[in-house]
Amino acid sequence: MMYKNFPMVPRVVFGRGSFDQLDQILAEKRSSPKSPMVFLVDDVFSTNDAFIKRIPKRDRDHIIFINADNEPKTIQVDSLRETIFSRTAEVPEGIIGIGGGTVMDLAKAVSIMLTNPGSSADYQGWDLVKYPAVYHVGIPTISGTGAEVSRTTVLTGPKKKLGINSDYTPFDQVVLDPELTKGVDTKQWFYTGMDCYIHCIESLNGTYLNAFSKSYGEKALDLCRDVFTHKSVVDDESQDQLMMASWHGGMSIAYSQVGVAHAMSYGLSYLLGTRHGVGNCIVFDHLEEFYPEGVAEFKEMVKKHNITIPQGVCSNLSDEDFDTMIEVAMGLGPLWENAVGVDWRKTVTPEKLRGLYEKM
Ligand code: NAD
Ligand code: ZN
Repeated sequence: MMYKNFPMVPRVVFGRGSFDQLDQILAEKRSSPKSPMVFLVDDVFSTNDAFIKRIPKRDRDHIIFINADNEPKTIQVDSLRETIFSRTAEVPEGIIGIGGGTVMDLAKAVSIMLTNPGSSADYQGWDLVKYPAVYHVGIPTISGTGAEVSRTTVLTGPKKKLGINSDYTPFDQVVLDPELTKGVDTKQWFYTGMDCYIHCIESLNGTYLNAFSKSYGEKALDLCRDVFTHKSVVDDESQDQLMMASWHGGMSIAYSQVGVAHAMSYGLSYLLGTRHGVGNCIVFDHLEEFYPEGVAEFKEMVKKHNITIPQGVCSNLSDEDFDTMIEVAMGLGPLWENAVGVDWRKTVTPEKLRGLYEKM
């Protein structure tokens, strides 16, 4: 048996207002006061002058605003690299991603592609990256995905939706400042928060479970319950709790795997562009047979927070469309193996998945 020897984020700051330490953190990494760095920032902040002023941009740094309406694509990563090279004569010394899973994944991918040749699509898979990435920092502004702590950056490419999984992917530094999440709207707060909840359920009910994943998964689940079951409003404490739940949920799946909701939600996302948080909720709502207790609790949380999970998203699809989604979902063998066991193909058939997709 070979056990995974996986890298972790080596430095992390946690605290309300800790964002203001960023200048000092970056200064230590600049080889000269003039070395350029690039801030990729969710464009939801582009009109927030007070926040923009707090970004510690020095003379030769650049801020690039990123629209998070669509999830990251390999062509977007490649084009960001071109933009950066057209603005800075030398390779920047740092990439700082400020936003949700979308912007954090882009920051990870761009930092890899600044030092590796070809297209980012060439590196979708496991351990294909050749050279260390540029120093990169992740600063979440919405909590749940665990992208701040994971060894992957999920990209949609010409042929597949698949992460660049490598030892060079994790951030060198993470700044966890729960205050940054205060502008998130209720629906998005719920969807991205449920990504974390679903990570826990899939990890804790999977065949890959071990004491490492269990300890992080249980803590994350407790925190999610505090935020979504015991409270109906978002307060400072729940911002702190959900940020730490996201971190622990990410740590839990790092050493196990996700499951059925993620496999099927990747199918929806590939075909329909459905975003990760809401896509997971659409799927999870129909997974009683796999996760009976988790789904019952999820439905309670949906009710408590007055969320309407989209229905009928597959109602007008062709046979070919269903086949595409089924192919994407069934291509994620490790997720099914974790969820159902090594013999998963005996029960998880194309017909079975078609029946489930038809309900959504
Ligand atoms: P997101 O980054 O797409 O953001 C969702 C919405 O919230 C966007 O409209 C964004 O503008 C807005 N937003 C973010 N912060 C805000 C703030 N402070 N105030 C107001 N609005 C704010 O959503 P997400 O759910 O965090 O990320 C989804 C992405 O993460 C997907 O691309 C998914 O593939 C990826 N993901 C990656 C991993 C990983 O391990 N790398 C894990 C799970 C998901
Ligand atoms: Zn997820």
